[in-house]
Amino acid sequence: MKKIADLKKTHPKGEEITDKKIWLSSPHMGDNEKKFVDQAFESNWVAPLGPNVNGFEEDIVHYTHCGHAAALTSGTGAIHLALAMLDVQPGDFVICQSFTFSASANPIRYMGAIPVFVDSEEETWNMCPDALLIAIQSCIDGTIATKYPHLDLRKEGQLPKAIIPVDLYGMPAKMEQINGIAKKFGIPVIEDAAEALGSSIDQKQCGTFGDIGIYSFNGNKIITTSGGGALVSQNRKYVERARFLSTQAREDAPHYEHTTLGYNYRLSNICAGIGRGQMQVLRDRVDRRREIFGIYREFFRGVKGISWLEEPQGFISNRWLSTILVNPNQTGGISRENIRLELATENIESRPLWKPMHLQPVFCSFPYVGNGISDSLFENGLCLPSGSNMNQEDIERILRNLRIIFKH
Ligand SMILES: *Cc1c(COP(=O)(O)O)cnc(C)c1O
Repeated sequence: MKKIADLKKTHPKGEEITDKKIWLSSPHMGDNEKKFVDQAFESNWVAPLGPNVNGFEEDIVHYTHCGHAAALTSGTGAIHLALAMLDVQPGDFVICQSFTFSASANPIRYMGAIPVFVDSEEETWNMCPDALLIAIQSCIDGTIATKYPHLDLRKEGQLPKAIIPVDLYGMPAKMEQINGIAKKFGIPVIEDAAEALGSSIDQKQCGTFGDIGIYSFNGNKIITTSGGGALVSQNRKYVERARFLSTQAREDAPHYEHTTLGYNYRLSNICAGIGRGQMQVLRDRVDRRREIFGIYREFFRGVKGISWLEEPQGFISNRWLSTILVNPNQTGGISRENIRLELATENIESRPLWKPMHLQPVFCSFPYVGNGISDSLFENGLCLPSGSNMNQEDIERILRNLRIIFKH
């Protein structure tokens, strides 16, 4: 800590440092988003249906080979609909990666179901297949019911209704192993690829590994519709059902007959217009984010105590966010929080890795299976500014400040 204070004195405050905020990840528009939005106005398709919605869905299918896609108002809504389609009931178990953003888990509670959180493994930071297997067995044999007597379960021993692995920060989860286990027990998989559009394993796109996949187009994601999401599946029935449920489940009758609970989750034709423009530049965005990660990796190569995720064989991460682990025992006492605060004083945003769900007050009373790997990722991990719209000057400013922190 003393070190940091000393460094501060030598900090070059001066004309070269601009005050412009460097964000963790901000929207990056291309050339044609406005054109598609203007078309929507000109044709008065200002509604949650229209040519941009259809076109955006086609673009997603074309890029990811996901089979079918339904454009929705958010990734969270997409997970909610997926659980509804899998007939998740109050008191059912749904297995979810603990190390994730809360939106992966919130819809489980919207359904009144019981999330069973599963720890990560160290190669991808995503759902650990071994822990997943233990979690499933503990659901079936009643261990969880015994260990967590306060839960309002449907039955003591029960098969989980779904498994939600996440491709966090763009790094694909070990989907082959996860799917293998899921298949053995006949449990459907919802792949949360909200952060992983454009990532792949052996050239198969993330989002296409589960029975159902979801994407997010929130403002901070690799591409954005200002707010939006998609549910994708090779199974046309799921996607048609999602479109039906997302538009209030109106049966085919002039008076609107309703036999199931509906939702209002369809994407607007305006937002979908932004999405069509963004799909045209998705490949560039992935390339740029990977390039930025490469710059950080080069920078940290010689720095003791800093590590990062390499891609397992065949895995491609879109590197949505560039992330590092900081080991203060090897950095001479510099922790991830030191780095974050130092950067913040220079108006540079960085952020701890996601706080695991089993540590969150809203979820900590629910079952968790793991060895504390995600706890330590949270403790030591930092997301660095990763926006594809950062220019050379921004990157030099970040590196200059990192150099000061690490005397490198
Ligand atoms: C962003 C995100 C979501 C939710 O997507 P929204 O479109 O913001 O609702 C779900 N899961 C993960 C892992 C995310 O990062």
